Amino acid sequence: MAKLILVPTPIGNLEDITLRSIRILKETELIFAEDTRVTNRLLKHLEINKPVIPFHAHNEHRSLALTIDRIRANTMCVLVSDAGTPAISDPGFLLVRECLKEGIEIECLPGPSALIPALVASGFPCDKFVFEGFLPHKKGRQSRLVALAEEERTIILYESPHRLVKCLGQIAEFLGADRQVCVAREITKMYEEYRRGTAVEVQKHYEQNPPKGEIVIVIEGKK
Ligand code: SAM
Repeated sequence: MAKLILVPTPIGNLEDITLRSIRILKETELIFAEDTRVTNRLLKHLEINKPVIPFHAHNEHRSLALTIDRIRANTMCVLVSDAGTPAISDPGFLLVRECLKEGIEIECLPGPSALIPALVASGFPCDKFVFEGFLPHKKGRQSRLVALAEEERTIILYESPHRLVKCLGQIAEFLGADRQVCVAREITKMYEEYRRGTAVEVQKHYEQNPPKGEIVIVIEGKK
């Protein structure tokens, strides 16, 4: 019986891959990867030599049938993304859905993902939260922000560094200038930083100190 295992990979610090993930990468017959170059670098670091086949976001729909055939031809295949957990703001969901439709067993190993450390370190309630991923860039962005203004649970967004200041400005505009936020930047990396304050305070900071690297925005829910 064919099986696909989703294996989370480090979001910065290579020590964050689990022992089980390493064992599964060693045991699998085939690895599907978002970017084969990124995955081959990780495999080289782990001294694992396995065939790696691309599974891209931009051709996820098109490559489904071919990928399903390849999974069926093996007993155990792995899907990885460039960093973190596959299918979380990364390719994977369509493949998981298709595998389940086709009777292929799915397993997802626990492991790194940027949203959980950002949420827990934010200091905002983490008993209930909503993960929004990336907000739409243009169409639909404003209506998401309007809806989020009423959200009482802690909100987690992914954002690019060049849109951070603008996004914090929009949070201040739609959710309130005094809404508490926490920007988690470069989690697990050398320049890891958590900046907490109101949307306006944190926006001002990043206006004066343009950010680099990868960013998660955590927003306190409406009180
Ligand atoms: N699959 C990944 C996960 O499980 O978190 C997310 C992939 S998504 C394409 C990339 C986004 O995740 C980045 O733009 C950033 O918002 C967030 N991210 C990934 N690594 C991060 C890090 N080390 N520090 C802060 N945010 C990170």
